Amino acid sequence: RATPSPPSSSRIAGGEIHPDPTHLSRGMEGDDPMDFTWTAGWEAACVDASPDPDPDPAPQEAEAEAESMILVSGPRVAVSGLRRADCRAGECVLFVNAGGCAIQGDHPSANLFSSDSFFQGGESIETSENIVQGGDYPSLYSSARYGDFTYRFDGLAPGDYYLDLHFAEIVHTAGPTGIRSFDVLVQQDKILSQLDVFKVVGGNRPLQVLDIRAFVGSNGAITIDFKGVRGNPMVCGICIRKSPATPAAKLGTRGSGLCKKCLTDVEISSPIQKRTAKLISKYEKQIEELTSQCNIKSDECSMAWSLVESTNQELDRLKMELHQKLVQTDNFEQVLDTQTDQLRKVSQNYENDKKLWAAAISNLERKIKAMKQEQALLSLEAHDCAHAIPDLSKMIEAVRALVAQCDDLKMKYHEEMAKRKKLHNIVQETKGNIRVFCRCRPLSKVETSSGYKCVVDFDGANDGDIGIINGGTAKKTFKFDRVYTPKDDQAEVYADASPLVTSVLDGYNVCIFAYGQTGTGKTFTMEGTERNRGVNYRTLEELFKIAEERKDTVTYNISVSVLEVYNEQIRDLLATSPSSKKLEIKQAGEGSHHVPGIVEAKVEDINEVWDVLQTGSNSRAVGSNNVNEHSSRSHCMLCIMVRAKNLINGDCTRSKLWLVDLAGSERLAKTDAQGDRLKEAQNINRSLSALGDVISALASRSSHIPYRNSKLTHLLQDSLGGDSKALMFVQISPSDNDASETLSSLNFASRVRGIELGPAKKQVDTAELQKVKQMLERSKQEAKLKEESLRKLEENCQNLESKAKGKEQLYKNLQDKVKELESQLDSKTHSQITSEKQQSQLSGKLKEKEEACTALQHKVT
Ligand code: ADP
Ligand code: MG
Repeated sequence: RATPSPPSSSRIAGGEIHPDPTHLSRGMEGDDPMDFTWTAGWEAACVDASPDPDPDPAPQEAEAEAESMILVSGPRVAVSGLRRADCRAGECVLFVNAGGCAIQGDHPSANLFSSDSFFQGGESIETSENIVQGGDYPSLYSSARYGDFTYRFDGLAPGDYYLDLHFAEIVHTAGPTGIRSFDVLVQQDKILSQLDVFKVVGGNRPLQVLDIRAFVGSNGAITIDFKGVRGNPMVCGICIRKSPATPAAKLGTRGSGLCKKCLTDVEISSPIQKRTAKLISKYEKQIEELTSQCNIKSDECSMAWSLVESTNQELDRLKMELHQKLVQTDNFEQVLDTQTDQLRKVSQNYENDKKLWAAAISNLERKIKAMKQEQALLSLEAHDCAHAIPDLSKMIEAVRALVAQCDDLKMKYHEEMAKRKKLHNIVQETKGNIRVFCRCRPLSKVETSSGYKCVVDFDGANDGDIGIINGGTAKKTFKFDRVYTPKDDQAEVYADASPLVTSVLDGYNVCIFAYGQTGTGKTFTMEGTERNRGVNYRTLEELFKIAEERKDTVTYNISVSVLEVYNEQIRDLLATSPSSKKLEIKQAGEGSHHVPGIVEAKVEDINEVWDVLQTGSNSRAVGSNNVNEHSSRSHCMLCIMVRAKNLINGDCTRSKLWLVDLAGSERLAKTDAQGDRLKEAQNINRSLSALGDVISALASRSSHIPYRNSKLTHLLQDSLGGDSKALMFVQISPSDNDASETLSSLNFASRVRGIELGPAKKQVDTAELQKVKQMLERSKQEAKLKEESLRKLEENCQNLESKAKGKEQLYKNLQDKVKELESQLDSKTHSQITSEKQQSQLSGKLKEKEEACTALQHKVT
């Protein structure tokens, strides 16, 4: 070690330590520890005088490490604790046990180390741990001052002093290095840079930095500043020693030299002078070397420091990152928890579902089993069916044949229907295209009470004869198609009219009207009452009934109009609002007349009919104050339109049925009318006589039929004449009071009937009818016969088939028998051959016997 160190012997005297700085003796002025003149000499003396009996085995590297932190020359390092031998009496001015209390030395009366004082700032700390290589005073290293602190020692005599600093890392004893590094400044000069005690000696181990030179000026103070670089500085003990007496005094005679630091002129002897010059040059070289090394090291240090800095920054960043990661981990854990919960729920659901599915699957399996069984059965059935296909095809053929037969029958039915229609028409025609029924009402209570008598004789009513006893003895007889007595009810009256209804459905136009004096029951016959419904309602009822019966073959579309003809004007009784426009009759096509703008109420079924009829009847009443009076002077006309469609052959027909309640036929003279009344009566008379004229023109097959002479006949044009049928109810009163009117009505009716029912036509019609009837009967019988023969043929066919089958069987049996017989024949032939053989053998024997016999006979003879 090149650094000169002061002599280690007799350096401290324990008893001379004064805690009070005022007692401190003042050091020598101008005394410089760096003074080579005495340093060199002391080095030799020191080595000789106090050889270390137990040298510290501290590794050289540690010392080198510590020395690299010393910035000035002079101080030395010891990596072990203070030894008794190092304490040189007389030199020590003060020894402070930093952070601790006073410690006694060998001499019991004096303290070796004074308690901690002279400090500013920082805190004390102690350890109970063992101080390794603690020297003779390990307790010195058990306490320390740490933090930001300064020691200031005042009252010292100006001069040179030595400072010994004692350190130990007693806090961060397990490191790491670099956790505590600090600078030490003496008198504001940095002596130690970034001292890291742990790095040098480790934890709980002493480190001494000795012989730090301090020059005390006129202020008499030494300041030692501890400045942390990393962490807080820490110090265990501070020793202030007075620099030993300058050896220059001893050397003065032998020469002189100049101290480089304090420029004190020191006397040096000449032999020493030479040696010293050598040494100086040697040391200067060494110093240069060391300075360059030091520079390199400090560069390295700063580099290392910056590295440490960046590493620390990196560490901080990593810490931040770690913190973030931890937060993230927490979040993830939370998410994980919730997801675990969800998973648990899902797995629970899954388990439940699994159970359900398992149940469903087993159920399905059962069903499948059952279905399989069913399938097996079905396949068996299918098998059977497949076998039965030949039968099926036969059946199909049979069904086809039946269908064909059915079609044939339909055709025949259709033909028959046409024939029936024709015949029905002929029957109606034979009865007369215009028929007249006479109906007499009963005597009313008023008439009876007024003493009126009945003048009508109904004796021949059943034969259509009616007599009017006029004036007591004279009796006039009339003949009609039918005569109804007052006892005959509505149903009986309608029964005779109903065949005409069928004609409407067959496509013929029909006209039914009631004629007669007012009050004779025209309205009663046609309309009737709610309880006793008349021809109108019953007709429609019948129409719907037949339509329903025929619905499979024909569809009917029925609509109704209700009109009134008054004073040669047409009024629509179904119109909801009165129309200002005059209703007129128009010809739409050949034989088809209609009134444009008239309401045609479509009736779907019988339930709607009564309402419609009532609507018409009620609105008839609206126009007048006196219903009966008005109605007696107007014609009320109900028109039923029937559209039929034959579903079999697609034929469509359109026909009309007029049901007319005529105005009263009473003669003008009797009413004795004038003005409007007269006009009314004239109109009525005109229209009724027009009706009579039309009928008579029709009967006489006149080329001109005067339909247009009145609105009534004009409206009825389609239903009067041609193929149309007409029925007139002539209504009469039985009262003798009305006798003349009755006679007049009967005369009119007889005229109508008489014209039409001419005997020749009737006969012709009857003959024709008879013929057709016979034809019908014949064709019916033929059909029956044919059916019968067909059936018989089928039966025959079946018989023949069964017979053929029987014969086949017989043939088979016979064949079997033939075979049997053949085999029998074979066996018989065989037996015959053997018997023939036997026979020839026997005959041979017989011959032999015969010969023998004859020979014997010869012998006998
Ligand atoms: P018209 O319409 O010809 O003027 P009505 O039909 O109004 O005559 O009949 C006059 C009255 O005679 C009515 O009260 C009616 O009920 C009654 N009446 C008519 N015919 C018969 C009958 N056959 N049986 C019972 N009452 C009848
Ligand atoms: Mg009437």
